Amino acid sequence: MKYALLNGKIVEPNKNIKKAICPLCGEIVISKCGKIKIFHWAHKSKQNCDPWQENETEWHRNWKNNFPKECQEVIMFDENTGEKHIADVKTKTDIILEFQHSYINTNEQCSREKFYKNVIWIVDANKSYNNFIKNKNDITLKLFSKEKYFYTMYPLLLFPQKWLDSRSYVIFDFGIDDLYCIFPQKVNFKTIGMCMSKHEFIEKIQKQKYEKIFNQENIEQSLNNLNNESLSVNKYMANTSVKQIETELETIEQLNLFKI
Ligand SMILES: [Zn+2]
Repeated sequence: MKYALLNGKIVEPNKNIKKAICPLCGEIVISKCGKIKIFHWAHKSKQNCDPWQENETEWHRNWKNNFPKECQEVIMFDENTGEKHIADVKTKTDIILEFQHSYINTNEQCSREKFYKNVIWIVDANKSYNNFIKNKNDITLKLFSKEKYFYTMYPLLLFPQKWLDSRSYVIFDFGIDDLYCIFPQKVNFKTIGMCMSKHEFIEKIQKQKYEKIFNQENIEQSLNNLNNESLSVNKYMANTSVKQIETELETIEQLNLFKI
């Protein structure tokens, strides 16, 4: 945790403040200001009251720091069940961002998506960067509109598999400026997504509603175009060089290897 309460005020961990109160459970938290992990608050009981919180890294903090203090570590409460959790970021437009660095099991992923509703996952995909760059080409990742939408028949070659079946938007942060967002809906077995610079995303997310972030109306239009495109396979084949088709076949072989 980056924030705790001291005399009713939000405080960050520092060497001069030893103890504060956890804003979620009201228990005492200790400031941890060592050399290995980033400065954080830890429960005295060593048990984190929110099982959904993961150990924070520099990557988490860098992301959180793009947003105003009041939008970071926001307590979310379900009035019906009494369940409460700390959302990494809640924008002023009511979008929840969850930054995920380590493995998360599917049950927890679904529970979090259900609890937060308008959630966008931001996944630390640094480790998959080399694989992504190696396999990314015009065949595996096809841009299909000026809006920087893309589709892929080979998502397994490009993105960490774990996240491909999510029912929310998933953004892969490969540690480069461009973020790659995968949409929850698939079209003709194609995975659809959008490429956006980090700067643009951070600006947009703070001003627009959930449905508007990826220009939903434009997606519909572009998806229609895409459907039309997939109907004209013959046209595609006629315009595709032998070299391209060979590469595509190789890619399919690779994909089969992945499935074994
Ligand atoms: Zn707590």
